[in-house]
Amino acid sequence: MDHEQLKALDQAHTLQTYGRFDVDIDHGQGATLWDLSGRKYIDFTSGIGVCSVGYGNPRWAQAIYDQAMKLGHISNLFYSQPYAELADALCVRSGMAAAFFGNSGAEANEGIIKLARKYSFDKYGQGRSTIITLNNSFHGRTITTLTATGQEVFHQYFFPFMEGFRYADANDLESVKAQDQGDVCAVLLELVQGEGGVLPMEQAFVTALAALCAEKDWLLLVDEVQTGIGRTGSLFAFQQYGITPDAASFAKGIAGGLPMGGFLVNEKCRDVLGPGTHASTFGGNPICSAAALTVLDILDEPTLEAVKEKGAYLRARIDAMDKKSIGKSRGMGLMIGVAVQDGYTNKALAASLMDAGLLVLTAGPALRLLPPLTITKEEMDAGLAIMEKTLV
Ligand SMILES: *Cc1c(COP(=O)(O)O)cnc(C)c1O
Repeated sequence: MDHEQLKALDQAHTLQTYGRFDVDIDHGQGATLWDLSGRKYIDFTSGIGVCSVGYGNPRWAQAIYDQAMKLGHISNLFYSQPYAELADALCVRSGMAAAFFGNSGAEANEGIIKLARKYSFDKYGQGRSTIITLNNSFHGRTITTLTATGQEVFHQYFFPFMEGFRYADANDLESVKAQDQGDVCAVLLELVQGEGGVLPMEQAFVTALAALCAEKDWLLLVDEVQTGIGRTGSLFAFQQYGITPDAASFAKGIAGGLPMGGFLVNEKCRDVLGPGTHASTFGGNPICSAAALTVLDILDEPTLEAVKEKGAYLRARIDAMDKKSIGKSRGMGLMIGVAVQDGYTNKALAASLMDAGLLVLTAGPALRLLPPLTITKEEMDAGLAIMEKTLV
């Protein structure tokens, strides 16, 4: 099959919900991909922050094969070792108390929203169910997580949306306090807004927000779907902000390319969701859990340190580029946003980079780089050389 045949087949029989780039991808190795015609690309996307340990990682593939041959699925009615081991590994490395596993970021956020409302119901009864989220955030595509998403463009078509969400401005504690009408149970935020444009929260805001939540007994919910699992140079971004959230959701990078999401809760919240209150048929499936355990194994401390160094290297090289089309970089670890200057669009810049053999993402008005965490110096240099040569 060639590119045009694939495009025709895709357009004939798939819902056209995605504005796809005019590129197909056939296979990959490390942070390098090839299309159907054999053309090579350097990858600064990792499938939107998912393929954290690179394409074709042999340890990851072997773990999946071994678990598939042993037990592919069993349901959560039975104990299974990969599930328990993964929960243990995540808690030991994050300081959290307990884990729940599902299949996606949106599902993980639904879980922590349920957690917050039940925590508050158990303690205070009805009427304290509002969750404050931030403008410009992104929390998912289900009706509830669309409602939680603080961007008007997402609040269209699918009416009615959920009750019980109010929006505050990022990095503005007064704006958060202004949403308090005595009915709040939690605040939900991304520590680096991903889809919004790779915008890190200010340390002072996060520290003050954590104190406010503690004072009001609001749960502090951190959406680490994009920032989590090593992306920012620590297992979770909250570890670098020096806070312990009541719950943190994760998904994208956790299983290195298999669908998995979930959330961690602290000691205070470990018994909130008791038997019968929450479930997911595929959640913590043995194959996904085995893949995730291998991802955590690969992302040991030296590898996470290297994520910080690689991010600093990419940003220094990008900031040193003298280009009319781009401005300064921002971000944490290997979650990098690059400002796009007036007169240029991120979509057009991304398309020209792809034509030249470098895959990048867009977010808000910016370019967004989420390379595999295991990307090599040679691959980074090859991608940077394409940026140097292609961007005006
Ligand atoms: C991608 C993303 C989600 C949604 O994850 P899905 O797996 O697509 O449901 C939620 N929150 C954040 C911060 C994300 O980046």
